[in-house]
Amino acid sequence: MPNEILRQYPLEPLVRREFLKRASLATLLWGASPGASFAQTAATGSLLIQGGLIVTSERQFLADIRARAGKIEQIDSNLTPLSSGEEQVVDARGMLVLPGGIDPHTHLPGSIEDLASGSETALAGGITTIGVMTFPRTGENVTEAVSRVSSLIAQQAMADILIQPGLREFADDAPRQLADLYAAGHTSVKIQMQRPSFDQRGMDFLNLIRSAGEAGAITLIHCEDHPIVTDTTDALMAAGRTSARYWGESRPVLAELVSVQRAIALSEHTEAPIYVVHLSSKRALEACREARTRGIPVYVETRPTYLHMTEDLYAGADPGLYIASPPLRTARDVEAIWRGLTDGDIDVLGSDHSALNRAQKANPELTLKTLRPGFSNLEVMLPMLHSEGVVGGRISLERFVAVTSTLPARLFGLFPTKGTIAVGSDADLALWNPTQRRRIRAADLHSRCDWSPYEGREVTGWPQMTIRRGEIVYDRGQITAQAGSGRLLRRGPTQAL
Ligand SMILES: [Zn+2]
Repeated sequence: MPNEILRQYPLEPLVRREFLKRASLATLLWGASPGASFAQTAATGSLLIQGGLIVTSERQFLADIRARAGKIEQIDSNLTPLSSGEEQVVDARGMLVLPGGIDPHTHLPGSIEDLASGSETALAGGITTIGVMTFPRTGENVTEAVSRVSSLIAQQAMADILIQPGLREFADDAPRQLADLYAAGHTSVKIQMQRPSFDQRGMDFLNLIRSAGEAGAITLIHCEDHPIVTDTTDALMAAGRTSARYWGESRPVLAELVSVQRAIALSEHTEAPIYVVHLSSKRALEACREARTRGIPVYVETRPTYLHMTEDLYAGADPGLYIASPPLRTARDVEAIWRGLTDGDIDVLGSDHSALNRAQKANPELTLKTLRPGFSNLEVMLPMLHSEGVVGGRISLERFVAVTSTLPARLFGLFPTKGTIAVGSDADLALWNPTQRRRIRAADLHSRCDWSPYEGREVTGWPQMTIRRGEIVYDRGQITAQAGSGRLLRRGPTQAL
């Protein structure tokens, strides 16, 4: 069975035969006794991963990895274990060894998920670094928001964390505070065009994008036009079409397109890099592609829902569950987003993980003005991409690594400490069994969310073990990390692609 799946699998000709031989063995080693660890325990902090297929954004090759003191110390063929007991040894024959996933876009801590459960769900899904959107609460400024989240990281995190400072409204003291935050290694800022504040303080936001660029930071922008969304929503509400069924109609592609065009113009005018979060439509993607061919530093993220679902769900039984902005789009948009991810027009897949329980989302009393956007996405983001993308023949393994690790590491100033497998890099690794079949069930996942948008889907390929800075933090279903062991990352400047 594994070899049947691997027949179409995008392996390099030079490694194919040897990997196929090892794959049958892996099923015996890793599949026979789920939960039982065969990594030998040792106390010295040295870890040897033997015989896996290492994949970076550039190549794939069979080799062993030695990690020590959190870093990759050696990559070579036929490394032998240090004398008995001094080193943990993992037999990775038949496994893919990928750089730990980097998901730069989560809403953690959230209403039902804290940084502990959020970390667990990330690690179990092969992700070792997560970005947390950090907005001031009422009465708080952005510096205070960053300090509040920093102390939660110290107590709860198991994944490594990058803070994404954000503004909901423009505050007069924000530019100064952001300048200090950039200097302290938080080299990004998120702003939101879908809020009235963006139009009211247009000049201030223009200057904010420019200052971020001058400081080596990147501006993340939620691109939906406030006037168009408000006008469309008001018209639907007035016509009595107030329910979740009308969500897609209430936030048309045009609202995203004009907002993306404006963001591009601001980037071109200020010469500062921007990062369009969760891009959803073909037309908006075409605008970004055109800008990129002219050398404008516009970077693009999409999220899993735009690869795996369409707006038809709004006509179904539980439309409230599928609320997120921008909304789900047509099958044509889904095709375009896949193509963008494959061809390089889209740089990053970010989960936008924002867990809300079924009852919070599917409440029929909610209207277009009160519906609750957000999905629990984090743990299955990479397995879904692997299954539909790599096994499905749409993207190469190297491209999988690029959009889920290497490119976010560059854009968020973490490369090459993170985002690759190289001597001197952090030993953040995910060991994947590319042929394991699994049916997604919310009850099996580590998120506190009581449902999954992918419930019942069968996927091929799943992370078996996750290693964060040389420490095994997840091993076949079991989280083995301690709360507070995740680090708050100080980042360098954004690296243009
Ligand atoms: Zn978001």
